Amino acid sequence: FLAEDLSMPDYTETEMLAKAYNQMRHHLKEQEESRQQFVSNVSHELKTPMTSMKVLSDSLIQQAQVGEVPNEMYEDFMIDISHEIDRENKIITDLLELVKMDRKSTIIHIEDTNINDLINLILKRLRPIAEKQQIDISLESYKPIIAQVDRTKLTLAISNLIENGIKYNKEKGWVHVSLNVDNTYFYIKVEDSGIGIPKEDQDHIFERFYRVDKSHSREIGGTGLGLAITRSAVLVHHGAIRVYSRLGEGTTFTVRIPLKYTKTGKEQAAEASG
Ligand code: ADP
Repeated sequence: FLAEDLSMPDYTETEMLAKAYNQMRHHLKEQEESRQQFVSNVSHELKTPMTSMKVLSDSLIQQAQVGEVPNEMYEDFMIDISHEIDRENKIITDLLELVKMDRKSTIIHIEDTNINDLINLILKRLRPIAEKQQIDISLESYKPIIAQVDRTKLTLAISNLIENGIKYNKEKGWVHVSLNVDNTYFYIKVEDSGIGIPKEDQDHIFERFYRVDKSHSREIGGTGLGLAITRSAVLVHHGAIRVYSRLGEGTTFTVRIPLKYTKTGKEQAAEASG
């Protein structure tokens, strides 16, 4: 027996009810705080590109009012405005994706899928981007893996990991993807030779809008939503994701997903109730 067990008071029914009520209130308060934090983050993120666009367009208008706008200036400013619009668009697309996935009733299309083919398709699409930055990407797989997955969601999850491997890399670096399987799960490992993630940030990188180095990430066009989307997509499959990283040496993400998709009780209930 632990000392605490011996000293545990007998709760009356009223006390138990009061305790449960307080716990529920605490939980609701936490949920509300997290919702408020999210709305505040979203507003802030959407405002930043807007502010830049406003400054750029106002400068152009001002210049036009005092005389001719030099061609070079016009082009430079318009390119910057166009980049800000791209950024705004990316944030909104990512947000919609995330909100959709986090909904309890998210629609999933599970299909028997050749995972090797799926990863090959992703690599084919990302190779030109990697080559532009002189990053080598490769795939290692031992045998064909057939698993029950939502192809779109898994593609999104793994694309984000590989894109990060390319983005947060060094000159002439590499991204290596490997596949493995046992009786129950398949494993996707995405390893890179990049800048690495400090230990204290590793627990937070899956949070929405979290970035390790805000100025650096902004420079390379991150929204801070990629890993949150990846995590949600992995969880939809009842899988798990882990990160290992050493600052200055590189990062490895490992995703583990069951070969067979099984609905949870909650999902079955949600489906039954329409
Ligand atoms: P972002 O859109 O900023 O890339 P993510 O959610 O994808 O957002 O990642 C969150 C942060 O985690 C990034 O801003 C970056 O600082 C860090 N990060 C993610 N992947 C890697 C990686 N492979 N190597 C180094 N840092 C990474």
